[in-house]
Order: sequence, then C-alpha cells, then structure tokens
Amino acid sequence: MTKNLFLRLMSALLCICFMIPMFAGCAAKDKQPDTTAASAEDVLSLENVDPETLEQLVDGYDPESDDLSAERSASGEVSLAGTVLTINGEEVSFSNSKLVEYTKISPNKNDPYKKTTHRTHKIDTITIHCMAGQLSLELCGNVFADADAKASSNYGIDKDGRIGMYVEEKDRSWCSSNSENDNRAVTIEVASDSSEPYKVNDAAYKSLIKLVADICQRNEIKKLVWSADKYTRITHQKDANMTVHRDFANKSCPGDYLYSRMGDIAKKVNAILSQNAGTKTSTTKSEFPYMVKIKAKMTDIRKGAGTEYDIVTTVKKGEVYTIVEEQKVNSGTWGKLKNDIGWINLKDTEKVK
Ligand SMILES: [Zn+2]
Repeated sequence: MTKNLFLRLMSALLCICFMIPMFAGCAAKDKQPDTTAASAEDVLSLENVDPETLEQLVDGYDPESDDLSAERSASGEVSLAGTVLTINGEEVSFSNSKLVEYTKISPNKNDPYKKTTHRTHKIDTITIHCMAGQLSLELCGNVFADADAKASSNYGIDKDGRIGMYVEEKDRSWCSSNSENDNRAVTIEVASDSSEPYKVNDAAYKSLIKLVADICQRNEIKKLVWSADKYTRITHQKDANMTVHRDFANKSCPGDYLYSRMGDIAKKVNAILSQNAGTKTSTTKSEFPYMVKIKAKMTDIRKGAGTEYDIVTTVKKGEVYTIVEEQKVNSGTWGKLKNDIGWINLKDTEKVK
C-alpha cells in the first residue's frame, strides 16, 4: 500500500471525529451551533469498518519508514511559545502545555476561507474526543500532517499517557465538525479502543485529567462544568464549558466510555484547580512602588490577586497607576494598586520609566 493511500485510509479511520472543513464552515455560518446537519459520518464512520482491518493498519505502521517522520519538529520548539493576540478588541495571551512530549504542527488549522490566522475566540471550552483506535502520537501526527486529511486537534494523548501537540492553543483545530466550537475550545484526541464504548486506558485517562487542568489554569478557566443536557452544553448556559463531538455531528465520539465520565473528569480537574488556587506563591520581590500604564483597552481592578475575586472597578487604556506589591497566581502576576484600590493583572499594563 502506498503511503498516500495509507494516510488517506487512516484519515478515514482515525477518530470518528474528523470532518471536512467545508461542513465545519457551513455549521459556523449559523449563529446557533448547528446540531442537526447531517455529516460525513456514513462515509468516515469507524463503525462501518472492520475493526481487524484497522488493527492491521495500526500494527503495520512503521513511523521510521514514513518520509513524514523526518519533518517532526523538535519537542519544545513550538510547544512552549507564548503569544498575545487581539481578539474582539481584547488582548488575550496564549501559551501551550508544558506536558507535551511530542510536537508536530498540522497545516489543518484556523479558517482559510475567512483568512483567519489564529482562533477568533478566547479559550473557554474543552472538547474531549476519542481516536477510535490505540494510535501513537506519531501516527496521529502524520495523519494530521497531511493537508488532505483535513483534520487535526490541539492535543493528542496515547495509550501510555504521553501527550502530543498538533495545533497550538492560539490556533483553531479542525476537530469537532463545528467552527464556532473549535474557535473557542481546546480539542483533545484520546487513544481509545476501536469500538464502542471506546474505552481508554487508565494511563491515558490520568494524563487527560492533568492536561485539562493545565489548560484550564493557563486560560483562566476557574471551573470545569459538564452538563448532561446537550442544549445547555452547546449554548454554554449554567456555566457549561465542556462539549462533545456528538453535539455537533451524528457521531458516537467521544464514545460512551468517556461520555459517561465527563462529570468525573470535571470533578477531578476541579479538585486540582482548587488545590492549586490554595497554593498561590507568595509575593515576589521587586522594586516598589512603581508606576504602570494600562495598555489593554479596558481591564478590571479586582478585590484580590486573581480573576476569582470580585471586580471593584474598570480602568482604561493610557491611565497610570502606582503598584505597591506583586503576587504570582495561576493567571499570571498581579499588582496591588496604591491606597488599597484593588489588584490588576500586570499583563494588561506596561511599566512607566
Ligand atoms: Zn471526535
């Protein structure tokens, strides 16, 4: 079998998740998430494929014999890069997980038809998928590296719990058959069995919890909220911020194993989040007081150092304030304003010399 045919086949088999971007774009035209449109499921569905065939394909795959493996980017080269982007007039900082052990950036990202070069919404949602196969990070990376596969995810987790990155967090992946969802969600493909309930190994499950907690912390998602009700999920009511592929397409993904554990995932992730919130590091040393100018269009002053504290007031670009203390928290470094006015996230400011 030729490499191209192999990749084509794999892209058809891997994750019931994959969807052509045309469909994703189509769904994105609607203001409300499209949950009724038919998908390419019938063609791409793993359920239509003999599991033994998939197993043979996966077992028979040798990454060393694949030309694409040479393009593998050095781990860490991209994965730790952070960036600040202006999204809907607001400056949003993006980073990637330091838990990543393997990086291979996919060309399948953002919305080419709209000429977007990064995601168009800040990250406020987590979408967990199953690969519908115990695929290695490398194999998954090679499939996503093929532009014809028209599929990708931000992260992947293999059966041993290793974590890979294919699309940086600042970019929109092509994963959930819905542009609107993927512009706001971090998508994660988890290696799973190849048939319902698409069980995932304990090692992969544990890594998933760690990765999701890490994503939440860096993107200021204070609490992960799962709703058993699809409408609540896709409209993000009641603070729901977890969606699943089957919300947007006629698919089994993420499989019943993971679907039935979404509440457990939220619970375990929230335990980590609240534990870390209690271990904020102490005040860092710096020269106080110093002056800062607000560089964000608008930013909030809060009662304490962190977004979980109430907003006291809002300040505007160009205004100057005096910082008398600093505190490092999960969401960055915060500065205390003079006269006990409140705390500000220093990423929205620049030092006045
Ligand atoms: Zn999926």
